[in-house]
Amino acid sequence: MLSYPTSKRVKELLAAHHMSPRKRLGQNFLVDANIARKSLALAEVEPGDCIVEIGPGLGALTHLLLEASCRLYAVELDAGLFRYLRRQVAPSYPHLLHLVKGDALDQPLAELPHREKSFKIVANLPYSISTSWMDAVLSGRLPDRLALMLQKEAADRFVASAGSKNFGPISLFIRSAYNIEAVHRVSASCFYPAPEVDSTLLSLRIRNVPLVFDGMAKEGIRRIFRHRRKQIGSILARMPEAERFHAWLEGLRRKGFNPATRPEQIKQGDWQQLILP
Ligand code: SAM
Repeated sequence: MLSYPTSKRVKELLAAHHMSPRKRLGQNFLVDANIARKSLALAEVEPGDCIVEIGPGLGALTHLLLEASCRLYAVELDAGLFRYLRRQVAPSYPHLLHLVKGDALDQPLAELPHREKSFKIVANLPYSISTSWMDAVLSGRLPDRLALMLQKEAADRFVASAGSKNFGPISLFIRSAYNIEAVHRVSASCFYPAPEVDSTLLSLRIRNVPLVFDGMAKEGIRRIFRHRRKQIGSILARMPEAERFHAWLEGLRRKGFNPATRPEQIKQGDWQQLILP
């Protein structure tokens, strides 16, 4: 097994392949073996598991997943890193690694075939796509488990519960389908180059009955949250075409809900009435 990369080794690898870290693509490479192992442990990775990885980069998580005999579907946008992975990593694992060159927003599950019935996601996510990618995952086949590393600000939004200042559409969509927990604060020094902020390791486990918002409900909720400090009654008064939301509010009102409530204070269960029969 290859030894785990240090900052020095990452720097050397990038230089040897004529690359340098691209900030726009969130290229902060993990250089802490304990955090990498913790990610796999959180997802309870076992030999034979089917795993999706987003942005394998230089393979910090990829190697561990392949050494654990997982079938791995990974999507990488950067042409140089993709070439490196295809030449330096893929040949050692011909039957395990399926590598896709592309954008995780177009391929949120890295071309995972339909025959793979159950799968997990392990990823150190690029910051700029973390929310849109998670949203896309929640619109498709749902993984059983996810171990996600992402910058603290985004992680705070993912785990926020109703009534807190970070609560928003993505928190609601995630919490309706998953039990989510911020497990570990990851110092910026665990990455090369070190980002300006710390990261958080998140653990997500699918709920017994995962609830998924359809596209129209999601779009309406996102519109409503653009006015998160206004009262839901007055927001909807300015959305006359949103009949479904008017019927929802009317239903809640009959049960004693106050239409002066702000979106960020509406309970998860009340939002879920939008999609429950
Ligand atoms: N997994 C590696 C690690 O832990 O060291 C790299 C993680 S780095 C935070 C993010 C990775 O995602 C980079 O390899 C970057 O090129 C890739 N990436 C950025 N945007 C992407 C996108 N839209 N689709 C797929 N990969 C992307």
